[in-house]
Amino acid sequence: MGLLDRIGKIVFGEGGASAPSSPSYSAPPPSYGGGVQYSLSFPSGSTIVLSLTESGYRQLEARGKRSFLKRCPKDKLISMIDTAINYKSLEEIAERYSICDSADFSDLHLDAIKTALRSTVDVLYDYPRLRSKTCYIGSAQGYRRKLESLRCGSVATLKDLGIEYICSPSQVKQLGALMVELADSYLVDNSSFIALAIDAFGLFDALVLDADDYKGYKYRQTLDGLKYGESSGFHPKGCDSPESAVYHELGHLLDYLCHLNSSGMERLYCSYTRRDIERELSQYGATSAYEFFAEAFAEARCNPYPRDIANRAMLLLKDGYARVR
Ligand SMILES: [Zn+2]
Repeated sequence: MGLLDRIGKIVFGEGGASAPSSPSYSAPPPSYGGGVQYSLSFPSGSTIVLSLTESGYRQLEARGKRSFLKRCPKDKLISMIDTAINYKSLEEIAERYSICDSADFSDLHLDAIKTALRSTVDVLYDYPRLRSKTCYIGSAQGYRRKLESLRCGSVATLKDLGIEYICSPSQVKQLGALMVELADSYLVDNSSFIALAIDAFGLFDALVLDADDYKGYKYRQTLDGLKYGESSGFHPKGCDSPESAVYHELGHLLDYLCHLNSSGMERLYCSYTRRDIERELSQYGATSAYEFFAEAFAEARCNPYPRDIANRAMLLLKDGYARVR
């Protein structure tokens, strides 16, 4: 389904009262001389136990603590993005400057790709630890294609994501099947999404755009819909562009990184009445503490004069980000 539902609202991501339950993982301490059993628990209830070597386990730990490396001034990187002439060169920039591990922009409008990359770079310069959550950026369709190839046993896809050390070739198919199921739980349950943040163990975390809304003439409709979403108060002031949709999703990824809801965001959300949030932030921000934060983050990035709720949420983000281990 496309971007607009019957009453013309645009929904970023979850579209419901609560975020999807996050996948989790657990690992016993490394046992010297042997490997490490590392289990990934999926929201569906399935679990896969990966057998890692000790060096593999250390690589995995380091992966979760990655920071974005500022290899060149932000303005220079943004200018490279702006002047790129096709999606292939944007994929190259995304991977060479380590904005993400893997990108697939083949389905998307060139302007949409540039928007997604510019906004991501903008946030990574301020919150470099978010890099551990930008494993994949691109179309939802491209994301699913990658996971499908895993389900068919492609070790090359693991290499593409930089995680070939996490499982033996014999486990790739099982991991792929579980990841396809996880991705579909996001993509199918959010049939009207235009952009979506996916939380997946720090291995497959993603910012995805729906090609159905970001390709050809549909992109024009998306732009109109975003403008309507802002002017009707469904989204915050200043949030009338594809940039704001991407900032909203990056807000979710920051939330997953910093566990903001367990560190005060829920309390801040509950300290306002629904009516206050609808008036002082957005209607969508009043649907859950998760959307409250993502909308506040989008307002803080897009409104030159962010209002009180957005400013308060940014203070909580500052504290939460400082505590990321
Ligand atoms: Zn959202």
